[in-house]
Amino acid sequence: MHIGNYLGAVRNWVDLLDDYDGFYCIVDLHAITVQYDPRDLEQRVLDLAVGLLASGLDPERCTLFVQSSVPEHTELQWLLGTVTPLGELQRMTQFKDKSRDAESVNAGLLTYPVLQAADILLYLGERVPVGEDQRQHLELTREIARRWNARFGQVFPEPQPLILPHGKRILGLDGATKMSKSQGNTIPLLAEPDELHSLVRTAVTDPARVRKDDPGNPHVCNVFALHGHFSSSAERDDIEILCQTAGIGCVDCKNRLADNLAETLAPVRERARELADRPERVRQILAAGTASARSVARETIAEVRQRMGLSTSPS
Ligand code: AMP
Repeated sequence: MHIGNYLGAVRNWVDLLDDYDGFYCIVDLHAITVQYDPRDLEQRVLDLAVGLLASGLDPERCTLFVQSSVPEHTELQWLLGTVTPLGELQRMTQFKDKSRDAESVNAGLLTYPVLQAADILLYLGERVPVGEDQRQHLELTREIARRWNARFGQVFPEPQPLILPHGKRILGLDGATKMSKSQGNTIPLLAEPDELHSLVRTAVTDPARVRKDDPGNPHVCNVFALHGHFSSSAERDDIEILCQTAGIGCVDCKNRLADNLAETLAPVRERARELADRPERVRQILAAGTASARSVARETIAEVRQRMGLSTSPS
Protein backbone atom coordinates (compact mmCIF):
# COMPACT_ATOMS: atom_id res chain seq x y z
CA MET A 1 0.00 0.00 0.00
CA HIS A 2 1.06 3.56 -0.66
CA ILE A 3 -0.24 6.77 0.82
CA GLY A 4 -2.48 7.29 -2.25
CA ASN A 5 -4.35 4.07 -1.41
CA TYR A 6 -4.49 5.11 2.23
CA LEU A 7 -5.75 8.67 1.71
CA GLY A 8 -7.91 7.99 -1.35
CA ALA A 9 -9.47 4.72 -0.26
CA VAL A 10 -8.69 2.84 2.93
CA ARG A 11 -8.90 5.71 5.41
CA ASN A 12 -12.38 6.43 4.02
CA TRP A 13 -13.44 2.80 4.30
CA VAL A 14 -12.51 2.93 7.98
CA ASP A 15 -14.89 5.88 8.41
CA LEU A 16 -17.69 3.75 6.92
CA LEU A 17 -17.28 0.85 9.35
CA ASP A 18 -20.08 1.90 11.69
CA ASP A 19 -22.60 2.76 9.00
CA TYR A 20 -22.36 -0.18 6.60
CA ASP A 21 -22.18 -3.94 6.64
CA GLY A 22 -19.02 -3.91 4.54
CA PHE A 23 -17.26 -6.62 2.54
CA TYR A 24 -13.62 -5.96 1.63
CA CYS A 25 -11.74 -8.52 -0.40
CA ILE A 26 -8.12 -8.69 -1.44
CA VAL A 27 -8.45 -9.31 -5.16
CA ASP A 28 -5.71 -11.81 -5.90
CA LEU A 29 -7.66 -13.14 -8.90
CA HIS A 30 -7.58 -9.69 -10.43
CA ALA A 31 -3.89 -9.33 -9.57
CA ILE A 32 -2.93 -12.30 -11.75
CA THR A 33 -4.18 -10.68 -14.96
CA VAL A 34 -0.80 -8.94 -15.23
CA GLN A 35 2.73 -10.37 -15.07
CA TYR A 36 3.52 -11.62 -11.56
CA ASP A 37 5.69 -14.08 -9.71
CA PRO A 38 3.62 -16.94 -8.19
CA ARG A 39 6.22 -17.32 -5.44
CA ASP A 40 5.47 -13.80 -4.16
CA LEU A 41 1.71 -13.79 -4.39
CA GLU A 42 0.86 -15.23 -1.00
CA GLN A 43 3.23 -12.83 0.74
CA ARG A 44 1.81 -9.90 -1.19
CA VAL A 45 -1.68 -10.89 -0.08
CA LEU A 46 -0.54 -11.12 3.53
CA ASP A 47 1.28 -7.78 3.31
CA LEU A 48 -1.83 -6.12 1.98
CA ALA A 49 -3.91 -7.66 4.75
CA VAL A 50 -1.41 -6.29 7.27
CA GLY A 51 -1.61 -2.83 5.66
CA LEU A 52 -5.40 -2.83 5.68
CA LEU A 53 -5.66 -4.03 9.28
CA ALA A 54 -2.97 -1.61 10.45
CA SER A 55 -4.84 1.25 8.73
CA GLY A 56 -7.83 0.49 10.92
CA LEU A 57 -10.03 -1.79 8.83
CA ASP A 58 -11.35 -3.55 11.92
CA PRO A 59 -12.27 -7.18 11.12
CA GLU A 60 -14.80 -7.13 13.98
CA ARG A 61 -16.80 -4.51 12.11
CA CYS A 62 -16.48 -5.68 8.50
CA THR A 63 -15.79 -8.83 6.50
CA LEU A 64 -12.19 -8.94 5.27
CA PHE A 65 -11.11 -11.88 3.13
CA VAL A 66 -9.17 -13.03 0.08
CA GLN A 67 -11.14 -13.24 -3.17
CA SER A 68 -9.78 -16.62 -4.33
CA SER A 69 -10.71 -18.25 -1.00
CA VAL A 70 -14.39 -17.83 -1.96
CA PRO A 71 -14.78 -19.84 -5.19
CA GLU A 72 -18.30 -18.49 -5.70
CA HIS A 73 -16.69 -15.31 -7.11
CA THR A 74 -15.47 -17.15 -10.19
CA GLU A 75 -18.63 -19.20 -10.47
CA LEU A 76 -20.79 -16.08 -10.48
CA GLN A 77 -18.40 -14.44 -12.93
CA TRP A 78 -19.10 -17.19 -15.46
CA LEU A 79 -22.84 -16.98 -14.93
CA LEU A 80 -22.84 -13.18 -15.29
CA GLY A 81 -20.61 -13.43 -18.33
CA THR A 82 -23.50 -15.02 -20.20
CA VAL A 83 -25.50 -11.76 -19.99
CA THR A 84 -22.56 -9.35 -20.48
CA PRO A 85 -22.30 -7.75 -23.93
CA LEU A 86 -18.84 -8.19 -25.44
CA GLY A 87 -18.93 -4.69 -26.91
CA GLU A 88 -19.32 -3.14 -23.44
CA LEU A 89 -16.20 -4.95 -22.23
CA GLN A 90 -14.22 -3.81 -25.23
CA ARG A 91 -15.29 -0.22 -24.57
CA MET A 92 -13.90 -0.10 -21.01
CA THR A 93 -11.26 2.63 -20.77
CA GLN A 94 -9.09 0.58 -18.44
CA PHE A 95 -9.07 -2.36 -20.86
CA LYS A 96 -8.16 -0.07 -23.73
CA ASP A 97 -5.36 1.52 -21.68
CA LYS A 98 -3.95 -1.78 -20.43
CA SER A 99 -4.13 -3.55 -23.78
CA ARG A 100 -2.93 -0.71 -26.02
CA ASP A 101 0.79 -1.32 -25.70
CA ALA A 102 0.68 -4.92 -24.51
CA GLU A 103 2.46 -7.53 -26.63
CA SER A 104 -0.33 -10.00 -26.01
CA VAL A 105 -3.64 -9.42 -24.28
CA ASN A 106 -5.11 -12.18 -22.12
CA ALA A 107 -8.86 -12.73 -21.89
CA GLY A 108 -8.70 -12.03 -18.14
CA LEU A 109 -7.96 -8.38 -18.86
CA LEU A 110 -11.11 -8.18 -20.96
CA THR A 111 -13.38 -10.01 -18.51
CA TYR A 112 -11.87 -8.29 -15.45
CA PRO A 113 -14.99 -6.10 -14.94
CA VAL A 114 -17.28 -9.18 -14.97
CA LEU A 115 -15.29 -10.55 -12.03
CA GLN A 116 -15.65 -7.17 -10.37
CA ALA A 117 -19.40 -7.33 -10.95
CA ALA A 118 -19.39 -10.78 -9.34
CA ASP A 119 -17.38 -9.42 -6.36
CA ILE A 120 -20.14 -6.90 -5.74
CA LEU A 121 -23.30 -8.77 -6.72
CA LEU A 122 -22.37 -11.94 -4.81
CA TYR A 123 -22.97 -9.98 -1.60
CA LEU A 124 -25.99 -8.15 -3.05
CA GLY A 125 -23.95 -4.98 -2.62
CA GLU A 126 -25.90 -1.73 -2.67
CA ARG A 127 -23.10 0.80 -2.29
CA VAL A 128 -19.53 0.60 -3.56
CA PRO A 129 -16.91 3.06 -2.32
CA VAL A 130 -15.08 3.57 -5.60
CA GLY A 131 -12.67 6.13 -6.91
CA GLU A 132 -13.33 8.05 -10.12
CA ASP A 133 -11.28 5.47 -12.07
CA GLN A 134 -13.75 2.70 -11.26
CA ARG A 135 -17.01 4.48 -12.06
CA GLN A 136 -17.24 3.00 -15.54
CA HIS A 137 -16.84 -0.53 -14.18
CA LEU A 138 -19.54 0.09 -11.62
CA GLU A 139 -21.88 1.31 -14.34
CA LEU A 140 -21.23 -1.94 -16.17
CA THR A 141 -22.02 -3.86 -12.96
CA ARG A 142 -25.39 -2.10 -12.85
CA GLU A 143 -25.99 -2.96 -16.49
CA ILE A 144 -25.14 -6.62 -15.83
CA ALA A 145 -27.46 -6.68 -12.79
CA ARG A 146 -30.28 -5.15 -14.85
CA ARG A 147 -29.86 -7.62 -17.69
CA TRP A 148 -29.64 -10.62 -15.40
CA ASN A 149 -32.70 -9.50 -13.35
CA ALA A 150 -34.68 -8.87 -16.54
CA ARG A 151 -33.92 -12.37 -17.81
CA PHE A 152 -34.13 -14.42 -14.61
CA GLY A 153 -36.10 -12.34 -12.07
CA GLN A 154 -35.17 -9.72 -9.50
CA VAL A 155 -32.24 -10.86 -7.33
CA PHE A 156 -29.51 -8.23 -7.58
CA PRO A 157 -29.77 -4.63 -6.40
CA GLU A 158 -28.24 -2.10 -8.81
CA PRO A 159 -25.23 -0.96 -6.79
CA GLN A 160 -24.63 2.76 -6.52
CA PRO A 161 -21.27 4.48 -6.12
CA LEU A 162 -20.55 5.75 -2.66
CA ILE A 163 -18.82 9.06 -3.14
CA LEU A 164 -16.05 9.41 -0.62
CA PRO A 165 -15.69 12.81 1.03
CA HIS A 166 -11.89 12.59 0.98
CA GLY A 167 -11.53 10.42 -2.11
CA LYS A 168 -9.31 12.86 -3.99
CA ARG A 169 -6.62 11.69 -6.39
CA ILE A 170 -3.21 11.87 -4.73
CA LEU A 171 -0.35 12.77 -7.03
CA GLY A 172 2.95 10.91 -6.89
CA LEU A 173 6.47 12.12 -6.16
CA ASP A 174 6.70 13.37 -9.76
CA GLY A 175 3.98 15.88 -8.85
CA ALA A 176 2.30 15.21 -12.20
CA THR A 177 0.69 11.76 -12.36
CA LYS A 178 -1.51 9.80 -9.96
CA MET A 179 0.49 8.08 -7.25
CA SER A 180 0.69 4.50 -8.46
CA LYS A 181 3.05 1.55 -8.22
CA SER A 182 3.15 1.22 -11.99
CA GLN A 183 4.44 4.82 -12.23
CA GLY A 184 7.16 4.18 -9.63
CA ASN A 185 6.23 7.44 -7.88
CA THR A 186 4.86 6.19 -4.57
CA ILE A 187 5.46 6.82 -0.90
CA PRO A 188 4.90 3.43 0.78
CA LEU A 189 2.49 3.61 3.69
CA LEU A 190 4.77 1.62 5.97
CA ALA A 191 8.08 3.32 5.06
CA GLU A 192 10.39 4.03 7.99
CA PRO A 193 11.27 7.68 8.77
CA ASP A 194 14.66 7.48 6.99
CA GLU A 195 13.06 6.14 3.83
CA LEU A 196 10.33 8.79 4.04
CA HIS A 197 13.00 11.49 4.19
CA SER A 198 14.95 10.15 1.24
CA LEU A 199 11.80 9.67 -0.87
CA VAL A 200 10.31 13.07 -0.10
CA ARG A 201 13.68 14.64 -0.94
CA THR A 202 13.11 13.49 -4.55
CA ALA A 203 9.61 15.02 -4.80
CA VAL A 204 9.05 17.54 -7.59
CA THR A 205 8.05 21.01 -6.35
CA ASP A 206 7.10 24.25 -8.17
CA PRO A 207 9.22 23.93 -11.35
CA ALA A 208 9.44 27.74 -11.66
CA ARG A 209 11.29 27.95 -8.35
CA VAL A 210 14.89 27.35 -9.31
CA ARG A 211 16.83 28.96 -6.43
CA LYS A 212 16.07 29.12 -2.72
CA ASP A 213 15.66 32.92 -2.96
CA ASP A 214 12.94 32.65 -5.62
CA PRO A 215 9.41 32.95 -4.25
CA GLY A 216 7.45 29.72 -4.83
CA ASN A 217 3.83 29.02 -5.71
CA PRO A 218 2.53 26.48 -3.19
CA HIS A 219 -0.64 25.97 -5.20
CA VAL A 220 1.20 24.20 -8.01
CA CYS A 221 3.38 22.21 -5.61
CA ASN A 222 2.52 18.64 -4.66
CA VAL A 223 4.71 18.78 -1.55
CA PHE A 224 2.46 21.58 -0.31
CA ALA A 225 -0.62 19.52 -1.25
CA LEU A 226 0.74 16.63 0.82
CA HIS A 227 1.29 18.98 3.76
CA GLY A 228 -2.49 19.43 3.60
CA HIS A 229 -2.91 15.77 4.56
CA PHE A 230 -0.16 15.35 7.11
CA SER A 231 0.53 18.75 8.72
CA SER A 232 -1.64 20.90 10.98
CA SER A 233 -3.58 23.69 9.30
CA ALA A 234 -1.51 26.24 11.27
CA GLU A 235 1.73 24.78 9.91
CA ARG A 236 0.27 24.64 6.41
CA ASP A 237 -0.73 28.34 6.59
CA ASP A 238 2.75 29.15 7.86
CA ILE A 239 4.45 27.23 5.03
CA GLU A 240 2.18 28.82 2.43
CA ILE A 241 3.38 32.30 3.36
CA LEU A 242 7.02 31.26 3.86
CA CYS A 243 7.08 29.62 0.42
CA GLN A 244 5.50 32.63 -1.29
CA THR A 245 8.04 34.98 0.33
CA ALA A 246 11.07 32.66 -0.12
CA GLY A 247 11.29 32.45 3.68
CA ILE A 248 11.64 28.68 3.47
CA GLY A 249 13.45 26.59 0.85
CA CYS A 250 12.09 23.41 -0.71
CA VAL A 251 14.56 21.26 1.22
CA ASP A 252 13.29 22.51 4.60
CA CYS A 253 9.70 22.29 3.44
CA LYS A 254 10.26 18.67 2.41
CA ASN A 255 11.97 17.82 5.69
CA ARG A 256 8.99 19.15 7.59
CA LEU A 257 6.66 17.06 5.43
CA ALA A 258 8.73 13.91 5.96
CA ASP A 259 8.76 14.52 9.75
CA ASN A 260 4.98 14.95 9.81
CA LEU A 261 4.42 11.92 7.59
CA ALA A 262 6.60 9.82 9.88
CA GLU A 263 4.75 11.05 12.96
CA THR A 264 1.20 10.74 11.56
CA LEU A 265 1.83 7.24 10.25
CA ALA A 266 3.78 6.01 13.31
CA PRO A 267 0.73 4.24 14.85
CA VAL A 268 -0.01 2.51 11.52
CA ARG A 269 3.62 1.34 11.27
CA GLU A 270 3.53 0.15 14.86
CA ARG A 271 0.35 -1.90 14.34
CA ALA A 272 1.75 -3.29 11.09
CA ARG A 273 4.95 -4.41 12.85
CA GLU A 274 2.93 -6.23 15.50
CA LEU A 275 0.79 -7.96 12.86
CA ALA A 276 3.73 -8.85 10.62
CA ASP A 277 5.27 -10.64 13.60
CA ARG A 278 2.11 -12.74 13.91
CA PRO A 279 1.27 -14.00 10.41
CA GLU A 280 -0.81 -16.81 11.95
CA ARG A 281 -3.09 -14.21 13.52
CA VAL A 282 -3.50 -12.48 10.15
CA ARG A 283 -4.32 -15.81 8.49
CA GLN A 284 -6.90 -16.49 11.22
CA ILE A 285 -8.55 -13.13 10.62
CA LEU A 286 -8.72 -13.82 6.88
CA ALA A 287 -10.07 -17.33 7.48
CA ALA A 288 -12.85 -15.95 9.70
CA GLY A 289 -13.63 -13.39 6.98
CA THR A 290 -13.75 -16.16 4.38
CA ALA A 291 -16.18 -18.18 6.48
CA SER A 292 -18.60 -15.31 6.86
CA ALA A 293 -18.25 -14.20 3.23
CA ARG A 294 -18.86 -17.76 2.02
CA SER A 295 -22.03 -18.16 4.01
CA VAL A 296 -23.53 -15.18 2.14
CA ALA A 297 -21.96 -16.18 -1.18
CA ARG A 298 -23.39 -19.71 -1.02
CA GLU A 299 -26.91 -18.38 -0.50
CA THR A 300 -26.64 -16.02 -3.47
CA ILE A 301 -25.21 -18.71 -5.73
CA ALA A 302 -27.92 -21.20 -4.74
CA GLU A 303 -30.58 -18.65 -5.67
CA VAL A 304 -28.84 -17.73 -8.93
CA ARG A 305 -28.37 -21.35 -9.98
CA GLN A 306 -31.99 -22.15 -9.26
CA ARG A 307 -33.23 -19.12 -11.24
CA MET A 308 -30.97 -20.04 -14.15
CA GLY A 309 -32.27 -23.60 -14.22
CA LEU A 310 -28.98 -25.14 -13.17
CA SER A 311 -28.81 -28.08 -10.79
CA THR A 312 -28.47 -27.04 -7.15
CA SER A 313 -25.02 -26.28 -5.76
CA PRO A 314 -22.94 -29.36 -4.99
CA SER A 315 -21.83 -28.08 -1.56
P1 AMP B 1 -5.18 0.27 -6.79
O1 AMP B 1 -3.96 0.13 -5.96
O2 AMP B 1 -4.98 1.13 -8.01
O3 AMP B 1 -5.89 -1.01 -7.06
O4 AMP B 1 -6.21 1.12 -5.91
C1 AMP B 1 -6.80 0.67 -4.70
C2 AMP B 1 -7.68 1.79 -4.17
O5 AMP B 1 -6.90 2.95 -3.85
C3 AMP B 1 -8.76 2.26 -5.18
O6 AMP B 1 -9.95 2.56 -4.47
C4 AMP B 1 -8.17 3.51 -5.78
O7 AMP B 1 -9.16 4.42 -6.22
C5 AMP B 1 -7.35 4.08 -4.60
N1 AMP B 1 -6.17 4.80 -5.09
C6 AMP B 1 -5.10 4.23 -5.72
N2 AMP B 1 -4.18 5.18 -6.03
C7 AMP B 1 -4.69 6.36 -5.60
C8 AMP B 1 -4.22 7.72 -5.65
N3 AMP B 1 -3.04 8.06 -6.17
N4 AMP B 1 -5.02 8.69 -5.12
C9 AMP B 1 -6.20 8.37 -4.56
N5 AMP B 1 -6.70 7.12 -4.49
C10 AMP B 1 -5.96 6.12 -5.00
